[in-house]
Amino acid sequence: MAFEQPAADVPLAPLTTLGVGGTARWLARASTAADVAAAHEWADAHGVRLFVLGGGSNLVIADEGFDGLVLQVALGGVSAEQRDGGTVIHAGAGESWDELVAFAVDRGLAGLECLSGIPGTVGGTPIQNVGAYGQEVAAVIESVTVFDRRDKRTIALPAAECGFAYRMSRFKGQDAGRFIVCDVTFQLRPGLPTVTYPDVIDYVSRRGSTSPDLGSVRAAVLAIRRRKGMVIDAADPDTRSVGSFFMNPVVDRAVFERIAPHAPHFMMDNDGVKIPAAWLIEQSGVARGHVDGRVGVSTKHPLAIINRGGATARDVIRLARGIKRAVIDRFGVALRPEPVFVGFAGDPDIEYLLRG
Ligand SMILES: Cc1cc2nc3c(=O)[nH]c(=O)nc-3n(C[C@H](O)[C@H](O)[C@H](O)COP(=O)(O)OP(=O)(O)OC[C@H]3O[C@@H](n4cnc5c(N)ncnc54)[C@H](O)[C@@H]3O)c2cc1C
Repeated sequence: MAFEQPAADVPLAPLTTLGVGGTARWLARASTAADVAAAHEWADAHGVRLFVLGGGSNLVIADEGFDGLVLQVALGGVSAEQRDGGTVIHAGAGESWDELVAFAVDRGLAGLECLSGIPGTVGGTPIQNVGAYGQEVAAVIESVTVFDRRDKRTIALPAAECGFAYRMSRFKGQDAGRFIVCDVTFQLRPGLPTVTYPDVIDYVSRRGSTSPDLGSVRAAVLAIRRRKGMVIDAADPDTRSVGSFFMNPVVDRAVFERIAPHAPHFMMDNDGVKIPAAWLIEQSGVARGHVDGRVGVSTKHPLAIINRGGATARDVIRLARGIKRAVIDRFGVALRPEPVFVGFAGDPDIEYLLRG
């Protein structure tokens, strides 16, 4: 179907998992790479900004909404081919991420099983290099096909040119807004699952499994995530969130030894120390189940800020500010938020949250 005239004044909250925020001045859907290029041209011709929406699971939309064109990426299609003893999977950016994980696991392909249950689209995963339970998507991405809004052409970027880092890539960092992901190519191999994360090791060993297969690790990850409110479930109000609101901070070893030598931690290659933000938050006096009017902290996970019903973006930001402040006061560590903020240009609260 050809690119159509965008719809006007479309509420964005229902298109996100957190469920806050105002309207898009314009909203269009792209089902093909040609639609993507046409949407870019439309935004240019009308002199409006363009924001790309995937599954809306990592977004905080401002109450004022977005004064431009929101482009919902819905490019579909999944195909697999054999190459060099492995399997190369091409997936359209609009495909469901978790369905793609299930597709790979069902075919005995390793590399994605620990990323089970992450909401959103395939195209959303390279943006912040999604990761969970000992895997990051960057490890199995071969290339990302993008529409380059600067050069107005569609190109394939090899993984090495995507700037992948912890919850980061060039798509979220220095080139934010420049590329629209059309499809992603993954290089997977038949193999054993990754079982390195303590929760997963504990879960499978309690079930007496010494050599779990890919399907059992996927099932384990889904069960662990459900317990933490990290699988979207309309019946579970703790899942009305963006998942983790803050990233795990990495501090110098000397800082770690000074501020929290007894904290659970993970040594990084560069001598940095990663500390769980969830631990810092709880130690700073913000407990699971904390209530602040229409928002709160999940009863299952201290890192998830939830919309308890009828919340505004301002409610969410106020609570996030308070949590960041509490951790600075207690440990001197400035947590950085994980989600993308849309429509908040120049907002001092957002500048405070993004400050390192
Ligand atoms: C309950 C819950 C649990 C979660 N658990 C995890 C987790 O374990 N690990 C993790 O890393 N994340 C997690 N997340 C965050 C989120 O699900 C991921 O970041 C996801 O990949 C976002 O994809 P999306 O399609 O929903 O993107 P959106 O939220 O729609 O967009 C996020 C960003 O990606 C950009 N974007 C999306 N699609 C495209 C595209 N096709 N081209 C260009 N830019 C695009 C948007 O412009 C925006 O900047 C969780 C979220 C929730 C709600």
